[in-house]
Amino acid sequence: MSSLARLIAMFPHVMLRQEPMSRHTSFGIGGPADALCVPRDLAELKAVLRAAGDGRVPITIMGHGSNLLVRDGGIRGLVIKISGTLDQVAVRGDNIIAGAGVHLSALARQAAEAGLMGLEFAAGIPGTLGGALYMNAGAYDGEMKDVVNSMRVLAEDGTERMLTLDELAFGYRQSVLQGHRLIALEATLQLRPGPREAIFAKIEELNRRRREKQPLAIPSAGSVFKRPPGNFAGTLIEQAKLKGCRIGGAEVSTLHAGFIVNVGAATARDVVALISHVQGVVQVKSGVLLEPEIRIIGEE
Ligand SMILES: Cc1cc2nc3c(=O)[nH]c(=O)nc-3n(C[C@H](O)[C@H](O)[C@H](O)COP(=O)(O)OP(=O)(O)OC[C@H]3O[C@@H](n4cnc5c(N)ncnc54)[C@H](O)[C@@H]3O)c2cc1C
Repeated sequence: MSSLARLIAMFPHVMLRQEPMSRHTSFGIGGPADALCVPRDLAELKAVLRAAGDGRVPITIMGHGSNLLVRDGGIRGLVIKISGTLDQVAVRGDNIIAGAGVHLSALARQAAEAGLMGLEFAAGIPGTLGGALYMNAGAYDGEMKDVVNSMRVLAEDGTERMLTLDELAFGYRQSVLQGHRLIALEATLQLRPGPREAIFAKIEELNRRRREKQPLAIPSAGSVFKRPPGNFAGTLIEQAKLKGCRIGGAEVSTLHAGFIVNVGAATARDVVALISHVQGVVQVKSGVLLEPEIRIIGEE
């Protein structure tokens, strides 16, 4: 019996075999994971990691899949999905202590409910707190690094550590989680007291701007490219006359040129080809090489 088959047999109630990743990504794209599991609590997450033992079963961590392009060959080994689980939230004075699996929109609303401001920028960002910590997600006038005080992480050997703000190494769409194989478990956010009505009004205003400017009804992973210094990816793509440009089922959004949308059965290959095409044309026209922000994972 292979290590993965043994792992699946040990946790049958939380394992999905040959699970299409298209069901777990906002793009609606992605080949099958050998196995996907949603641990019900921290003890179960640790038990799964222990049983996966020392890299014998490759592990991929994901949140809600809103920043992922999974290639068409899928993912070998085990995908651990931390979304809608490990999602406890506690308000302590001006602090909120939240589990990595809570959805950012729900967390922003709980903060507003508690009369705490500072997280309004995050209310319209799809995905989990864990994914937002990994990406140092941001929008409008805020990013995660403005509100995070500390983070509790789990290494794959099962040891837990508390990281302080300095250790989190936040930068533009960057954090210590990238490249260190650490799993975010929980973060403490430092917010400020404020009037609930004003906080909710700001959330509504930012969400209205999003609905006007972004193709929210069509599957995507949000902005595909990082913002180049002193410019905007969407503006450069629009100036290069690439709005509406299509390869297979992947299209540069006609509403927001920074988004690539899945307009019908797009494959990861279509999206990757469109990303390369956009990069090439924009570089020729403006001299800027756009760097992908979305995470591209899995096998061809
Ligand atoms: C319509 C739309 C609008 C968007 N708007 C914005 C925006 O305004 N600003 C913005 O920054 N992003 C935006 N995004 C992108 C995306 O929502 C964010 O990057 C989000 O933070 C990703 O969270 P997730 O839970 O979906 O992470 P996933 O996509 O599942 O994972 C992203 C990365 O985080 C890692 N990860 C996830 N959870 C953990 C964890 N617990 N521990 C360690 N690593 C983890 C994964 O391994 C992966 O590398 C948008 C996406 C869409 C579809």
